[in-house]
Amino acid sequence: MAFELAPGTGTDYYLLEELLTDEERAIRDKVRAFCDREVIPIISDYWQREEFPFELIPKMAALRIAGGSIPTILGCPGMSAVAMGLVAMELSRGDGSVSAFFGVHSGLAMMAIALLGSNEQRMRWLPPMARMERIGAFALTEPDHGSDVVLLESRARREGDEYVIDGEKRWIGNASFADLTIVWARDDEGHVGGFIVEKGTPGFEAEVIRGKTSKRAVWQANVRLRGVRVPVEHRLEKARTFKDTGKVLVATRFGVAWEALGHAVAAYELALAYARRRVQFGRPLVAYQDVQTRLAKMLAEITSMQLLSYRLSQLVEQRWMTEGMASLAKMHNAQKARWVVAQARDLLGGNGILLDHHVARHWADVEAVYTYEGTDTIQSLIVGREITGVSAFAPHAEQAQPPQPPV
Ligand SMILES: Cc1cc2nc3c(=O)[nH]c(=O)nc-3n(C[C@H](O)[C@H](O)[C@H](O)COP(=O)(O)OP(=O)(O)OC[C@H]3O[C@@H](n4cnc5c(N)ncnc54)[C@H](O)[C@@H]3O)c2cc1C
Repeated sequence: MAFELAPGTGTDYYLLEELLTDEERAIRDKVRAFCDREVIPIISDYWQREEFPFELIPKMAALRIAGGSIPTILGCPGMSAVAMGLVAMELSRGDGSVSAFFGVHSGLAMMAIALLGSNEQRMRWLPPMARMERIGAFALTEPDHGSDVVLLESRARREGDEYVIDGEKRWIGNASFADLTIVWARDDEGHVGGFIVEKGTPGFEAEVIRGKTSKRAVWQANVRLRGVRVPVEHRLEKARTFKDTGKVLVATRFGVAWEALGHAVAAYELALAYARRRVQFGRPLVAYQDVQTRLAKMLAEITSMQLLSYRLSQLVEQRWMTEGMASLAKMHNAQKARWVVAQARDLLGGNGILLDHHVARHWADVEAVYTYEGTDTIQSLIVGREITGVSAFAPHAEQAQPPQPPV
């Protein structure tokens, strides 16, 4: 079912459209059209079967959006931070699994190489990733280290011209089929490094996590690394400490804020369309005061999310965005999206829990957004640290290693 909005009833209540460049509008429109035409009609079936829609990869590749703001000289789109945000929003407005797949490939994996790779590494890996001929994954989280991932235990031992990697990773998006996975591990000196592990490397095993109730049409894997050998030139040149890893996480977190917005927009649009046509007690739902009040509050939250996301993208462009600013947007938008989507689900009554009506999928998917790339609490602690100067991550923060933002 495509979105059923009458003209003039969209979610751009404060006319943000006016602030977009022609190029940003064009990028948004092409991603929206792709989602309406290619994603929404097929995705509930994949979601239900817990299958990943591989058929969409070449179609996404044709959009030329992978790599976001990474410069064109590296074969990437070189788009503005606003355009990148709009892409994340439109993809999740279409479907949260598709946006999560894209966020890992184009965000985490490609940004890690763009920000931390040598020129040679960038030239080698990024152009085929931008064409989506090679798909990326980003393996940071471990079974025993999620929010405290700075304490990661995976090891990369130097042996001649190779590193030998051992460890366990959990929740790694795309890892079961990715052509390359950026694996984070500590070297012999205890320094954190990012190592590019290519598909088929002996000792690398990825098992898809089944039974999820959120983002079911994208695969995350438990990854085992047993004596995985990579050449030394596969170590990202500029990744030496966890602070470097953190640069990637901060750079992609603003995209997650936009992603949360996309879920809220989709759910609101669907709920409004439904409330227009659903008649109870002789009148359409939209004719009731309570329903209008709820729609107004939902739109108010969406508008606040839009303004925050747009401004955050400007701060990215101007290189003024701090870690806390990115966290504040992710925290705020994920919380608000969760509320908006829950309201929408209720407005659809029983149909709100049916996949056919799409709201249920967004309702379930937004839960993962609330947790990944740093939980709601962890984002609040990052903001708290920035505004107070005191780290409250651990009971005895001064004794713990300084925690860094998780994925
Ligand atoms: C769908 C999905 C996709 C993902 N994709 C990837 C990926 O591609 N690559 C990757 O590396 N990782 C990925 N992750 C991992 C994700 O980043 C982690 O799940 C997330 O950081 C939370 O870690 P955890 O699940 O271990 O929860 P935990 O860290 O165990 O947290 C459990 C609860 O404890 C709270 N908590 C933790 N520490 C504190 C504290 N100091 N004070 C108060 N409360 C606290 C948390 O807020 C949370 O409510 C993905 C996760 C999901 C669900």
